[in-house]
Amino acid sequence: MQVIRRIDELRAAIRKARAGNSALRVGFVPTMGYLHEGHASLLRAAREQCDVVVLSIFVNPLQFGPNEDLSRYPRDEQRDLALAEKEQADIVFLPGVDEMYPSPTKTVVSVSGVTERLCGASRPGHFDGVATVVMKLFNMVQPDAAFFGQKDAQQVAVIEQMAADLNMPVQIVPCPIVREQDGLAMSSRNVYLEPEQRQQALVLSASLKMAERLVAEARGQMDAGELHKAILEQIRQSPMADVDYIEIVAYPALQPVTEIREGMSILIALAVKFGKTRLIDNTIIRL
Ligand code: AMP
Repeated sequence: MQVIRRIDELRAAIRKARAGNSALRVGFVPTMGYLHEGHASLLRAAREQCDVVVLSIFVNPLQFGPNEDLSRYPRDEQRDLALAEKEQADIVFLPGVDEMYPSPTKTVVSVSGVTERLCGASRPGHFDGVATVVMKLFNMVQPDAAFFGQKDAQQVAVIEQMAADLNMPVQIVPCPIVREQDGLAMSSRNVYLEPEQRQQALVLSASLKMAERLVAEARGQMDAGELHKAILEQIRQSPMADVDYIEIVAYPALQPVTEIREGMSILIALAVKFGKTRLIDNTIIRL
């Protein structure tokens, strides 16, 4: 496994891997590090589908708002490298901020239509930061396929839209959400949670499960407002939960729905704060 911190060295390593083999498939897994089983599942999918697996670890300042957790975002390079090695990554790209942004970027990739709601509404500028860094990383790695978790369902929609609109020669591969045994979606931010918050955070996955059950029982006809109310009521049973949003939208267009009907795909997405820690979770229901 090669550990690379510079863009020119990354390009050289990929050029060398591709030399004389035009059919070689490069798979790419972009992350912000502090790796867990969710990230490992992306690396495994890339390992299965590609010949060369590139993992990037970069906490991207551009996607954090001024009052967010950039400075305290968890980091552990040694542990991350051990996980990458175990999952048989070929190249780990670990650029510093100066390498990625030697001067403030004057070019920003901004995807409209799928970014106005959900996390885009609560975190202004977040998806510009995400799309810009992913575009930069795609230009450096030039992957054939890139692997993203459905944990960040809106992020997948944004990257798919960007890749399609800009004719980027990369296949975007969405991968399922990996959860702890008790249902909590894995996240690098879970480490922030106090034990009591960690316990109450189970309300996210529990309320999504309940929503799935209600939709199934309604047999393809349900008022989205009713469903929203049921989810909100369940989350309110946890006194530490501070709801940022509960959204029921068509998937992948991410536009609001009022009536849930047979034949639709819907995304139910939640963002809930426990103290300073903001957690997200979601489920996609194909009726
Ligand atoms: P992050 O390091 O949080 O920016 O995440 C990097 C990638 O891992 C993104 O594509 C995430 O969607 C994905 N990811 C994070 N948590 C999970 C999870 N619990 N299950 C599946 N994928 C995940």
